[in-house]
This record gives sequence, C-alpha cells and structure tokens, in this order.
Amino acid sequence: MTDSMRAPIQRALVVGGGVAGPTVAMFLRRLGVRATVLEARSAAEGDAGAFLGLAPNGLQVLAELGLGAELRARGAVCEGLRFTNARGRCIGVIDHRGHARRFGAQMVMIRRAELHRALMAAAAERGADCRFGAKVVAIAERPGEVVARLEGGEELAADVLLGCDGLRSRVRALALPGSPAPAFTGLCDVGGFARCPGAPLEPGWTVMTFGRRAFFGAFAAPGGEVWWFHNNGAREAMQVVDPEQRRAAILALHAGDPGWIADVVRATPTLLGPWALHDIMTLPRWHAGRVCLLGDAAHATSPSAGQGASLALEDALVLARCLRDATSPQAAFAGFEQERRARVEAVVRQARKNGDGKAPAGPVAAWFRDRMLPLFLRAGAAAQARFYEHRVEWSTPTA
Ligand SMILES: Cc1cc2nc3c(=O)[nH]c(=O)nc-3n(C[C@H](O)[C@H](O)[C@H](O)COP(=O)(O)OP(=O)(O)OC[C@H]3O[C@@H](n4cnc5c(N)ncnc54)[C@H](O)[C@@H]3O)c2cc1C
Repeated sequence: MTDSMRAPIQRALVVGGGVAGPTVAMFLRRLGVRATVLEARSAAEGDAGAFLGLAPNGLQVLAELGLGAELRARGAVCEGLRFTNARGRCIGVIDHRGHARRFGAQMVMIRRAELHRALMAAAAERGADCRFGAKVVAIAERPGEVVARLEGGEELAADVLLGCDGLRSRVRALALPGSPAPAFTGLCDVGGFARCPGAPLEPGWTVMTFGRRAFFGAFAAPGGEVWWFHNNGAREAMQVVDPEQRRAAILALHAGDPGWIADVVRATPTLLGPWALHDIMTLPRWHAGRVCLLGDAAHATSPSAGQGASLALEDALVLARCLRDATSPQAAFAGFEQERRARVEAVVRQARKNGDGKAPAGPVAAWFRDRMLPLFLRAGAAAQARFYEHRVEWSTPTA
C-alpha cells in the first residue's frame, strides 16, 4: 500500500506557519492529505524574530524532506561553543566538529525569518495551501469534522485541526481549556544582528559569556555579522518601551564584562525582543476530539537547550506518521502523545536547568562555577548527545 492510500483523513487544518506547521503539512502532503496552513502573520511581517540553532536531531527531519542542504545554505554551520567567565577567560569548550560523523549532522544557525520562509515556501511547493494573515479565533467540532473560524469571519472545515501555534497557543486555550499557563523561567532574552569587526570572535564559533549580571551569547556568522543574544533576570528593566533605554539597561548589565560585548550591543541597528522566556513542563493532555497540539503549543521549551525547533520538527514527522498508520485521528493523536511525551518533557527539564545556570552569580558562586564548569559541561554535553542522537524515522511503522 502506498503512503497516499493509508491516511484515515483527507483534509487537515494546520494552525501556525512557524516550524511545526509547514513541516507537518509537508508530511501530510506525502499522504495525499489536503493541508491548509493558517498563519496569523502577514507575509510581509516575516522578518520578526532573531535566530536559532537547528540541532542534528531536527536536521535529520529536514533531510528526510530533502531540505537539509537548502537550510544549511541559508544558515551557517556552528563549529562549537566556547564558554568564558566575566573576565573573558575561557572556562570550557563544546566542540561540534565531530558531530556530522557522530550524529549525522552538525548544528546549523539560521535566522528565524529565513527558516519560516523556507519551510512555508517548501510546503506550498508540495501542494499545501499556505495562507498568511489568517488568524484562527474560534474552533468548533461538528459531526465528522472540525471547523476553524478566522478573524474576519471566514470558516474552514477539515477532518482534523493541528495546533502548531506556539507558546501562546490559541488552539490550546480553545480545545483544552484549563490547561496550565506557560511558566516564566526567570530569564528575559534580547538579541540582534551587528557588524562589529573588532569583536574577538572566530567565524563559525559561538562564545557564551557568564557575565557579572547577565549572560551573553555571540555567534560569528559568515560574512562578518555577529548574531547575539543576551539573557537577564531583569524583567521590568526590559519592559521599557523606548529601545534606547533598553539598550542602556543591557549595557549597564554588562558593565565590567569584556568590552567587546558592549561594542556589539552598541553596533546593533535594531534590538530584537525582549522575550520573557517561558516553558511548559507538562501539559496534562495534548489532544481533544479532532484537535491535536504539537511543537511549542504542547511542550514549549526555553531556548537554553537549543532544542525547541528541533522538537517541533520531530513532532511533525511523528504525528504525520501516526496519522498514516492509525485507523482514526483519535488513535493517531493518542499514539503521538504516548510516543513523544517522555522525550520532550526530558528536554524541557534540561533546558530549564541550563537556563538556571545562566542566572548571575555572586563572587563566591562565580569562583566555584568557573572551576566546576568543565564538569557541568561534560554532564551537559552527555545530555545533549542523548537529544542529538534521537532518531524519528518516516519509514518505521508506528508501534
Ligand atoms: C528567543 C528565543 C530563542 C530561541 N532559540 C532557539 C534555538 O536556538 N534552537 C531551538 O531549537 N529553539 C529555539 N527557540 C525555541 C523555538 O523558537 C520554538 O521552540 C519553535 O519555534 C517552536 O516551533 P512551533 O512551530 O511550535 O512554534 P512557532 O515557531 O512559535 O510558530 C507558531 C506560529 O503560529 C502562529 N500563530 C499563533 N497564533 C495563531 C493563530 N491564532 N492563528 C494562526 N497562526 C497563529 C505564529 O504567528 C507563529 O508563526 C527559541 C525561542 C526563543 C523565544
């Protein structure tokens, strides 16, 4: 039997055109399912967001779709991470250069807008109906189908509705009312893209600095750009409306840290964010009736393990495979949740732990951290390896 003859559904509404949405649509197209991706943003708004790292486990899903080389070309391979203390001394290294051999791929850094654009374009090429400016505001189940209402009043019906609408999922609120709200991790994130030729960064490497009051990550992208993020616990200071006041607050938080950090922040034309980082440790249910959540909508993870996008990609493959192999949408959703829950919750916990380690430390704690970091990095690298080596296979029948 071919894939396209097997799915128990003919039509799917996919809410969200970020990472999980267009990807699950592409896998559904393989099954011959009519997939409509509804994205709230307008196509012109595509430049929002900063950048992210696609880990080997996420890249293998893109490779399955034949998109690995394209995404690598749109981004840049990350050779590894160097950790430094507030004085700029290197206190640990995670080298990625053996990862292609070990995990089948090496991490790729990519601008978020570039990733979203590439995935939506690929989904459209494969026959998905990808619609921008299509914000879902209501959902209703009718006998044999589910209906989504868009802002503006248009209604669309399908056999299933997949909530790929991220951390603040409207689908989650509508289909699974009473779900716990995302929890604040204690960290805020601001980022940007800068040209700062004086910054002592090696192309392809990321430098992570445990500053005195805040954490700073900087990736030296090809072409000389610095892609950076800054994490702090100063939520109120980040809420100021004036971006120049926010820049001043960030500079104050890095006073006394290596001087190039301030140079990068000053050289950044537009600060991106702030994002108050949230996660969802465990959501009691991921599906109800003909509706199922995936990606951040089901299990948002803080960025500190660099896994949220990769988990969303894995989810997309597994959910489509479950729909291919099950006899009903409900059985597929139950199988999907059962297969994925333990893995994603382990990642969310590890990401929270990594994030807690970025919180500013007093002088004594910083002294210990500098000495213990090689040990922590070894433990962290072992956890990371378990995440990277995980494989989800399209060809394997669902258990
Ligand atoms: C600052 C920051 C840095 C990060 N860094 C990394 C990293 O390095 N590596 C990594 O793997 N992950 C990272 N993440 C996490 C990663 O971005 C998410 O895990 C990933 O984007 C989840 O994909 P998704 O498709 O589930 O949701 P999203 O990518 O958030 O996509 C959801 C989409 O749904 C749309 N939408 C929302 N509501 C509606 C609606 N009602 N109707 C229609 N559309 C709607 C949104 O506009 C959005 O496009 C980071 C996150 C943040 C905030």
